[in-house]
Amino acid sequence: MKEWALIDGLTGIANRRRCEQALQEAMARCRRYDEPFTIFLWDIDHFKQINDVYGHEVGDQVLRQMAQLARSKIRASDVVGRWGGEAFFLLLPHTRLGAAMQLIERLRRAVMAEVVVGDRLVKASFGVAEYRGDDDPAGFLARADAALYTAKAAGRNHVRAHPPLASQPIAIL
Ligand code: GH3
Ligand code: MG
Repeated sequence: MKEWALIDGLTGIANRRRCEQALQEAMARCRRYDEPFTIFLWDIDHFKQINDVYGHEVGDQVLRQMAQLARSKIRASDVVGRWGGEAFFLLLPHTRLGAAMQLIERLRRAVMAEVVVGDRLVKASFGVAEYRGDDDPAGFLARADAALYTAKAAGRNHVRAHPPLASQPIAIL
């Protein structure tokens, strides 16, 4: 019953409550053991159009595909969840920004290659932040969210970090 309350009904991955819980746990470990970790938030690009063109049921199917794909790309200790609507959350324990960026770039490409609806490629934008000792949960999430916003503003289908990296990987669109 308790487990069930932490799972997203549509996709079967963690719900927002579980994501927030995982974040609190990771922050406590970081403070105690000085263990780095990274989170990212990502959001499907133009998802409203997918719903409008193909219907809500197909939109739901895309959300399930996205959750499955993310789950297949991560380790058991990582936490992937649905943050809300068509936004997702991933927490990578023991992972610094550089390594996280590589994983995320692979996920961004896999989304384009594997999540398909009709003849349309599904794409997503990603915002990343590595935890800093002085981040509180809200401020830390706001940094990842700001990075996501920058990725959208850069034309979508991008990965962006907060604070911005001097050299971003070149996006293959
Ligand atoms: P952007 O590229 O800026 O992210 O644009 P967008 O169209 O993805 O974003 P917008 O916020 O305009 O629209 C999100 C849509 O997602 C609107 C909402 O109806 C839909 N949505 C939210 N939750 C669900 C859901 O559980 N199932 C389905 N099918 N659609 C959902
Ligand atoms: Mg969207």
